Amino acid sequence: MEKNGYDSVCLFMMKKIKGILSFLFDLLSFPVFTDWISRVFFERGAESVLILTYHSVGVHPVARPDLTIHPAVFEKQLAYLQKHYHSISLDVLAQAITEGFHVLPKKNGRRFVAISFDDGYEDNYTVAFPLLVRYQIPATFNITTGFIEHTRAMSAECQDAMFPEQSTMSWKQIEEMAQNPLCHFGAHTVTHPRMSQVDLEQARQEMMESKSALEKRLHRPIHTFAFPFGSKKDFNEGLVELAKQSGFTCVLSTVPGMNTVQSSRSYLKRIDPTTTIYRFKARLSMGYTLVRNLRSRFE
Ligand SMILES: [Zn+2]
Repeated sequence: MEKNGYDSVCLFMMKKIKGILSFLFDLLSFPVFTDWISRVFFERGAESVLILTYHSVGVHPVARPDLTIHPAVFEKQLAYLQKHYHSISLDVLAQAITEGFHVLPKKNGRRFVAISFDDGYEDNYTVAFPLLVRYQIPATFNITTGFIEHTRAMSAECQDAMFPEQSTMSWKQIEEMAQNPLCHFGAHTVTHPRMSQVDLEQARQEMMESKSALEKRLHRPIHTFAFPFGSKKDFNEGLVELAKQSGFTCVLSTVPGMNTVQSSRSYLKRIDPTTTIYRFKARLSMGYTLVRNLRSRFE
């Protein structure tokens, strides 16, 4: 009886401590603190690359607001990136992963950022593409090739997690974008399965089929692969190795964080920019990455 009482006091205290830490991390995530942490602790930020993960750019009142950014907010983010960051494509990053980050073109000591879009929604062509051209910012579109013109059915987990009623780009639109040097493409499987839950042979096929479909249509090598869903439970080191063996240099996750030359040799981390412009600025800072990493240790 006494032991039970002791246990429940411990549990109560643990919950309280977790609550206080969570509050502190929320507080530290505000731009005023992340900026300060970045200035004090990270002067070498120019040697890192941030990659942003967009999905849909538009106005969708139903389903998955966390995957959809309003065009006006997206434009504000592009304007901010144009002013403060040096935008590079993932093809340039692929070269830097092989040869070292010293090959990245320097521009006034600015930090590097790369924009990526996952899945291949039609508003990437109708809304995002003209804005990227206006701001002259390169982007990499990771295409789930089976979604294009509905040649293959979505995986079951994908139908649950995404918005299957939303239109995707056509091959004609993708080919038109590929004519513009700002647009780059990556593979994002054929049916968007959770790769950690399929066998190795199916995983290989998903990677290779999406890669070869894009290469055949666009007449260029495809260096980038983005894991569907992309969190730590959705892939493993064996699958990263399989992607490298399949010819991908840039292997993208959605694990949050920045990338350095050392960390880039495995999988790349990305930042979710689907938020307000105020929070967006904070998320790009090194201080935010530090706070986020510390927080994940306590969760
Ligand atoms: Zn996806």
